[in-house]
Amino acid sequence: MNFEFTEEQKLFAEQVRRFALAHLEKGALARAHDPRFPFDVAKLLSEQGLMGISIPEADGGQGGTLMDAVIATEQIAAVCPRSADVVQFGNFGPIRTFAEYGTDHQKKKWLSECLAGRMVMSLGMSEPDAGSAVTDLKTAARPDGSHYVLNGTKVFSTFSPDAAVFLVYVRYGPGVGGIGSVLVERDTPGFKIGPPQEFMSGEQWCELHFEDCRIPSENVLLGPGGFKKQMAGFNVERLGNTARSLAFGRYCFERAREHASVRRQFGRPLAEFQGLQWKFADMAIKLEGAQLLLYRAAANADKGLPSAYETAVAKAACNQVGFEVAHEAVQIMGAAGYSKSSLVEYCMRRCRGWMIAGGSVEMLKNRIAEHVFDRRFDQRPPKAKSEAAE
Ligand SMILES: Cc1cc2nc3c(=O)[nH]c(=O)nc-3n(C[C@H](O)[C@H](O)[C@H](O)COP(=O)(O)OP(=O)(O)OC[C@H]3O[C@@H](n4cnc5c(N)ncnc54)[C@H](O)[C@@H]3O)c2cc1C
Repeated sequence: MNFEFTEEQKLFAEQVRRFALAHLEKGALARAHDPRFPFDVAKLLSEQGLMGISIPEADGGQGGTLMDAVIATEQIAAVCPRSADVVQFGNFGPIRTFAEYGTDHQKKKWLSECLAGRMVMSLGMSEPDAGSAVTDLKTAARPDGSHYVLNGTKVFSTFSPDAAVFLVYVRYGPGVGGIGSVLVERDTPGFKIGPPQEFMSGEQWCELHFEDCRIPSENVLLGPGGFKKQMAGFNVERLGNTARSLAFGRYCFERAREHASVRRQFGRPLAEFQGLQWKFADMAIKLEGAQLLLYRAAANADKGLPSAYETAVAKAACNQVGFEVAHEAVQIMGAAGYSKSSLVEYCMRRCRGWMIAGGSVEMLKNRIAEHVFDRRFDQRPPKAKSEAAE
């Protein structure tokens, strides 16, 4: 067992950090408070080879590993937290499931545009009545000749105000086996996008309404029975959120450390008060522990897809640690940390969201408990005898 990066990984991390310092450090605060997708950053990252890091070269990616993508997230976030969203989009988001299962025709049409930083894709999974219980989703895809007709509503889709194409989870038939996914272009007739609404983080999302929206059959990504494959792809997305949570926590830790070294009260630097030293020690313990879980999940990824259990453990740990550390950093920095002129409060708000998004901490703990007891715990109420007999 080796807890060190390889020489190649060290070099890659250094290169990404140097690039971030040269191109992204300036403007980091303004970028964080701009809700629109930063296409300028996406183009820069694309030129630097930081989009599609773990996507095969044949598909226009870099042919690297998931671990490389995690390293890139950490290095970019350490300099410009908001730009790490672009690393997420280009490496972990719906684009990754799309690259895994898309047809050549679909990839030709949309993947190259996304990897070039000219287009952003949004994920339409959650519905008003299907959040954690995602398999309750109702958005229907009904075959009609050479087309499918979509009806339903999606909520909370990140990047939806700017996305040109949407990866939408749909229901072809009853049960989990009836779930799959399709690709829908923004200007498709019958696809209505509501006005932008805002999360606590300042990120925007729109309601997506499908009203007899006709899409060609060639836009089907996964047919009936595709849910398991979607979830395998979604574990990559989860790992991206995991990496960002931890990286944002570390960003706050560093700012608080710098602040405590120079800020003087009662005639001495804050760092000399034991009450604060122990906060830093606790934060360091949490960050180091969660870091190992993140690297384990990324390093053990098989054919680019991490295990569901290792991802669940890493995400639950990093989501909690990221938020706790960011929250403590605000406290240590006092009003300076609470102020919008520092990125620490921004990181804290972002970390709060990842405890809910992409598998809430509670749902991840349900998954972990199933591993612990080696059995499934149905979250649904037991069926009444008459219902079960039907
Ligand atoms: C920042 C952010 C970005 C997002 N981006 C997207 C996106 O791009 N695309 C998309 O489709 N969706 C997105 N979502 C939505 C996200 O997937 C859902 O918020 C998530 O699945 C939880 O669903 P819910 O919010 O409806 O909460 P609910 O499912 O209503 O849950 C409410 C609370 O109850 C808990 N809970 C529910 N069931 C159980 C259980 N069985 N055991 C224990 N606790 C339980 C949950 O953990 C949560 O704390 C985003 C959300 C956020 C916050």
